Amino acid sequence: IPVDVFDLVIFGGTGDLARRKILPGLYRRFRAGQMPRDARIIGAARSELDDAGYRALVAEAVREHLEPEKRDEESLAAFLETVHYVTVDARGDAGWKELCALIREGTVHAFYFSVAPSLFGDLAERLRAHRLADGKARIVVEKPFGHDLESARELNRTLARHFDESQIYRIDHYLGKETVQNLMAVRFSNILFEPLWNAQYVDHIQITVAETVGVAGRGEYYDKAGALRDMVQNHMMQLLCLIAMEPPYRFDPDAVRDEKLKVIRALKPLTARDIVRGQYDAGPGIPSYREDVGNPDSFTETFVAMKVEVSNWRWEGTPFYIRTGKRLKARASEIAVVFREPPHAIFGQPRDGQGNVLVIRLQPNEGINLWVRIKEPGPGGMRLVEVPLDMSFAEALGPAAAEVPEAYERLIMDVIRGNQTLFMRGDEVEAAWAWIDPLIADCESCGEPPILYEPGSWGPEESAMLMHREGRRWREIR
Ligand code: NAD
Repeated sequence: IPVDVFDLVIFGGTGDLARRKILPGLYRRFRAGQMPRDARIIGAARSELDDAGYRALVAEAVREHLEPEKRDEESLAAFLETVHYVTVDARGDAGWKELCALIREGTVHAFYFSVAPSLFGDLAERLRAHRLADGKARIVVEKPFGHDLESARELNRTLARHFDESQIYRIDHYLGKETVQNLMAVRFSNILFEPLWNAQYVDHIQITVAETVGVAGRGEYYDKAGALRDMVQNHMMQLLCLIAMEPPYRFDPDAVRDEKLKVIRALKPLTARDIVRGQYDAGPGIPSYREDVGNPDSFTETFVAMKVEVSNWRWEGTPFYIRTGKRLKARASEIAVVFREPPHAIFGQPRDGQGNVLVIRLQPNEGINLWVRIKEPGPGGMRLVEVPLDMSFAEALGPAAAEVPEAYERLIMDVIRGNQTLFMRGDEVEAAWAWIDPLIADCESCGEPPILYEPGSWGPEESAMLMHREGRRWREIR
């Protein structure tokens, strides 16, 4: 379904994020017929370019970041006609008049802040001063949203001076993933799961976000952030919320976000001693983290594993184990809801506690699996075996699955439609920082270095021990 005609300004339109995600994503929506031909995409950045120069940059970005089957020259040429450019200084007056002239009255206008967060305030202020911050305007802001509670509050206050909360779209691209939304569909549109979705039937939940890459190119930022700020405070917290939240009364932005907020507020505080912090070491031909960031004394964690508890009626007694890291064995993100064993084993076979698992896989091969025990075929008697009921989209939906929009595409279309459900509200972001700040402060003050781990492993041994101590284990991920 096509969205309304819009003018989208991408501040930072020449930057890495714009080239890798935003522009190719917009092109895909254009090619799919969702983006109207009279929409305008206006790149706005510091580089001195004209429309032709910027169109060349956009074409190159699309060719570089989309596989040949996802693009064609004819639609690309048509797409480029919607593209414009203005040289703008977020901190000065240059370019603002020209920008105003390109934005049409009566259209939806959205401003994507794909620039360093230190420029958010300047941009918001200038949008207001040039009367672009009217009721039709929407702004999109990228992570990191602050580096602690105080800076997040300050950022929220700055934006609130110029925009209403209903105009602010804080992106967490994990929420734009097809499977993440499917998680809500599976939970709330089937009778099968919700009755079991509580501490009585769920033994524990595992959330893994594993990367194989190091911090290449992002060292300067990462060394000040670490995995707790870079992954846990935002992406992992969001996933945990969607699993743990109560059913919202309606699928409505504030109804959903109210329920997520309650989960964050119910998280038990953690201290440095409760969690495993790791840092990747050097391996054959692979530099260590400290070499990557050029800081031989860095205590920054590139891996964390922890047990998180949600202290409420539904979840008391069901831990959420989360782990994330760089230079791990596989690039994979998944959520596993591990159900309890039946109360009595009539077949007498030893059970390892992972008979029924609902696996929500975010990457690679997005999809959902439900593992069940069945009888192993053949004459061997009642031997049980675990098999997955596969809800992988690629197989079930055929070619339609190939057209599934990627996270950024979907989220930008939601901005145009004015749907905030998959964006973080200011109070959610602050609550997540309020929970994680004391933990980070404790880690920083305890003086303990992170545990070194081998690149290509699953992190420090202590991560496995965190589970073993409680008679559990991480699911094997390939
Ligand atoms: P980048 O350094 O590649 O690009 C920065 C852009 O900002 C450039 O287009 C530059 O011209 C513009 N710019 C800088 N100063 C300006 C000024 N005074 N006035 C106008 N424009 C100015 O950065 P990036 O990697 O594209 O990241 C942009 C934002 O997105 C950052 O907040 C970053 O944290 C966030 N982010 C990036 C990624 C990513 O994969 N690159 C992922 C998540 C979040």
